[in-house]
Amino acid sequence: MTLDLQLKEPFTRNLKDGKPFIISGPCSAETEEQVHETVKRLAKQNVDAIRAGIWKPRTRPNSFEGIGTEGLKWLKDACKEVGLPAAVEVANAKHVYESLKFGIDILWIGARTTVNPFAVQEIADALQGVDVPVMIKNPVNPDLELWIGAIERIHKAGIRKIAAIHRGFSSYEKSKYRNKPYWEIPIELKRRISDIPLICDPSHICGTREHLHTVCQKAMDLNFDGLIIESHRDPSKAWSDAAQQLTPEALGEMINNLVLRKLSTDDKEFNTHLDDLRSKINRIDDEIMEILSHRMDIVKEIGICKKENNITILQPSRWDEIIKKALEKGSKIGLSDQVITDIFQAIHNESIRKQTAVMNDE
Ligand code: PEP
Ligand code: MN
Repeated sequence: MTLDLQLKEPFTRNLKDGKPFIISGPCSAETEEQVHETVKRLAKQNVDAIRAGIWKPRTRPNSFEGIGTEGLKWLKDACKEVGLPAAVEVANAKHVYESLKFGIDILWIGARTTVNPFAVQEIADALQGVDVPVMIKNPVNPDLELWIGAIERIHKAGIRKIAAIHRGFSSYEKSKYRNKPYWEIPIELKRRISDIPLICDPSHICGTREHLHTVCQKAMDLNFDGLIIESHRDPSKAWSDAAQQLTPEALGEMINNLVLRKLSTDDKEFNTHLDDLRSKINRIDDEIMEILSHRMDIVKEIGICKKENNITILQPSRWDEIIKKALEKGSKIGLSDQVITDIFQAIHNESIRKQTAVMNDE
């Protein structure tokens, strides 16, 4: 799908030096001094835009729910002083009108809003006829269609400067992340909407400072266009998300330490070698397909035997035997349990589908 986006500015990576678009700022605007000091210190760190939450979607009531409209003036004034664009989260039409009234340059839709098509549509309606860049965070749940739906709603309102923010997905399981990245989801988004810039939000993925650098590097290695990272003049005193914020100086250092890689090169020798290796991979992929097709032929034959003898398709002990054998073999050849389980589950599902068709003469 192409969305007819005009993306050269402001989000896409500077093609000359491959530098990602960096947005940083506090989780929340708290006081006028905090906003001004944080912005001033960030401006020295080569960031491209400033973020600050004005209205905060908090999980539980009675926590700090954002300073509200007065923070917009602090943010806009501070950004004007240093010549940087200001970005704010909007969750309803009022937020859009207020932000635009104060000259906010970039809007974003938060994860808790993207899940709700009514809320996204309300924002889209408020944006009719306005030319402002909008960043759309993934929904809290790992639902790519919902993310794409929100992007489409904003696009249908006439907005052409759109970026997607990957901030991870909530899950009930314990994990080292606050929100699991499920990198395959933004990768698939990029495959489906190839011209959309992708911005990674490592702060809300990690929830603490510990893995921020690793997540930023991973995003860069996956060719993300930008990063949105929370920073605060004194993180330990932040009124929200204290554990994941960096000082502006620590942010600058982290960004400088990222290894930036290019998508391609003109180096002939490298390109020939890569082409060579890729043709080997293509041949192996063909072999995998042939083997799979051969396996499925046998699966069908077994299906016919089972049908004639009135035997169930699913044989739990046989499936257990297959997966155990595969896991054992996989670990010997350096393949993770996860990948073995995923591959064999997919093969097994397809086998069941094929045998179900045989049983029912489909
Ligand atoms: C935020 O960016 O401060 C925020 C509320 O994030 P999310 O919508 O990703 O939870
Ligand atoms: Mn936050």
